[in-house]
Amino acid sequence: MRKSSLLSFLVIGLCIWAVVTVDILVFQTETDTVDHPAASSHPEIELSQSDIGQQLISIFDQTKVDPQTSSSRFLALELTNLSKLTPTEKAYWLKIQIKLAKNMKDSRTVDELTLQLKKLADNEKLTWLTVSLLIDEAVNHARHSRIPQAETLIKQAIMIAREHHIIYQLPRAYNVAGFISNSSNELLKSQRFFSAGIKVATELGDSLYNSTIHNNLGLLYLHIERWHKALEYMQKARKLLNESGVINNPLMHTIYLNEAFIYNRLGDVENSIAAYSEAQLYFEEEKASVRDNLIQLKGKAEVLLLLKEYEEARKTATHCLNFPGSKEYPLEFGQCYLLLAKSLNQLKEYQLALNMVDEAIEIFTDIDHERWVIRSYNQKAEVYSSLGDFESALDMYRIFYQQDKQQLLGKVYNLENAFATRRIEQERDLLDVEKKLTEAKLAKERLRFQIACIWGIIAIVIITLTIQKSVLMHRKNKELENLSFIDPLTGLNNRRYYNYQVKSGKILSKTLFYRIALLDLDYFKQVNDQYGHDIGDVVLKESAKRVSKLLADNELFIRWGGEEFLMVLIDDKSVEQRIQLILETFNKTKFETSAGNLDITTSIGVSHPALPTELHYNDEYFRKADQNLYEAKRSGRNQAVYPDS
Ligand code: GH3
Ligand code: MG
Ligand code: MG
Repeated sequence: MRKSSLLSFLVIGLCIWAVVTVDILVFQTETDTVDHPAASSHPEIELSQSDIGQQLISIFDQTKVDPQTSSSRFLALELTNLSKLTPTEKAYWLKIQIKLAKNMKDSRTVDELTLQLKKLADNEKLTWLTVSLLIDEAVNHARHSRIPQAETLIKQAIMIAREHHIIYQLPRAYNVAGFISNSSNELLKSQRFFSAGIKVATELGDSLYNSTIHNNLGLLYLHIERWHKALEYMQKARKLLNESGVINNPLMHTIYLNEAFIYNRLGDVENSIAAYSEAQLYFEEEKASVRDNLIQLKGKAEVLLLLKEYEEARKTATHCLNFPGSKEYPLEFGQCYLLLAKSLNQLKEYQLALNMVDEAIEIFTDIDHERWVIRSYNQKAEVYSSLGDFESALDMYRIFYQQDKQQLLGKVYNLENAFATRRIEQERDLLDVEKKLTEAKLAKERLRFQIACIWGIIAIVIITLTIQKSVLMHRKNKELENLSFIDPLTGLNNRRYYNYQVKSGKILSKTLFYRIALLDLDYFKQVNDQYGHDIGDVVLKESAKRVSKLLADNELFIRWGGEEFLMVLIDDKSVEQRIQLILETFNKTKFETSAGNLDITTSIGVSHPALPTELHYNDEYFRKADQNLYEAKRSGRNQAVYPDS
């Protein structure tokens, strides 16, 4: 392969390598985040973009706290031409009307508008609305103890919400799912949903749902009679609700009533009444829903029983049963029957009490609420116990109760274990994620380091090659330069070298005085003629060698041409003595050649002393040396001639 194509391949490869690694080294530094599928944004974000949207959000929020003002504000909008509204705006327009109709307890309008909302969700493919409606429907079924229907709907809602990443709906959906599982006595499942709900709500910073779920988790513990744990969750629920900044009186009311119930069961009369009194601060009979009214009456009856005000308790329980719409809430309705039975038992109206328990049993059996059926039997056993007459029946119920207790205790164990396992699982998951994250970071760091090392190596190689090349070039130049300064026969420097040194060279000291001494072999022509040119060459080389030995480093010895040499000698006291030695190095020792030992002499002409720069600018010195050489020849050779003064 040709050198140039190899080089282009190398350059292209280096460019690709540079693009890839620069991306890793420079641009990927801040991208160490875990990938989550993008969550769908809340429809209110879309609404907040338009003026009408903002008003709709504001009115919708107000329906929860001040239905009257929100109603008049809604009417003031005078929205007649709905075609101008976006699908989301239309949805909120309907949602507001549903809320207002609910406040008016106008269930027909609620149903009609809900149907319209469903159609809107379907036609406009508003998935968030579909999920929201499914949850609403599930809640509705659950509150009326239609558990299987509720379960199907909530499963669907959770599935769609997850699939479409409608994360903000999940806390509510999980809460409802937990509530439904709790109703069907599936405590483990219930706990799992609540945990999932708390996790998402915490991630979203949704303190309101976090509070609701904590309340329900508290209820879970309440059912398995873990009173202190239940209390802990209720108190946390209150704290979260306060933190959320949302005013939700019904929720606060429920939490306090639950606390009152727990204190009641713990036999802490004082705290129970205190919690009940707190609950009253958040309760407004007219505004409260039927269910909240029933919950309030239940709480009141419990407190009255605790205060041993049995007649009042009986009245309250009866009020609960007779409350308009109470039958729509079978769980609460049945519970009020049990409270009535309790009061009647205390009032010694045993037969009536037994009848009330039977009513309760029928209702709980109807809605398939095993836990409350068992409670009712327990209540029945208590009445029998008060009666003192039906020993065998009482025993039977007690056995039944014991069995249930064991079953319940098993559930407690499972639940406690499940909580612990879940926590461990979560911690492990978290550690796992953190570990993977750290590993990924380390791997990336390692990769970055390796790439940086490779770049370093490439840089070093390039620098080394460049240096090497420049050194080689320098050396080559030097060689060429040297070659051009050297006489090939004798290895001495030539005339060019002399000119260079006197002009700008570093061999001669700039502060010392020198003399030029021209040296010419005597009768050399004869040597050539007599012994041949080769022998002449041998004599020339030997002459160069002999004289070189007698010169210092800061002096010059030049082959000037033919058998003529030029010396630049330091003009010190011994200069004449040294020139004499040069003469003697010829005439005292014969030149050994293949043609025999030859007698060779030389003549030398010497100049005046001068600084190197003067030698360069003034050829007078050279001429003087030349004249003196001529004089040396003329006056007999084998001698040196100096200037007169
Ligand atoms: P003189 O004592 O007057 O200097 O006498 P000479 O014979 O040395 O006189 P001349 O200067 O005329 O002769 C120089 C001779 O040196 C002429 C030439 O053939 C010879 N010569 C010049 N360069 C070389 C060389 O490179 N090799 C050889 N073998 N002879 C050379
Ligand atoms: Mg000569
Ligand atoms: Mg000559």
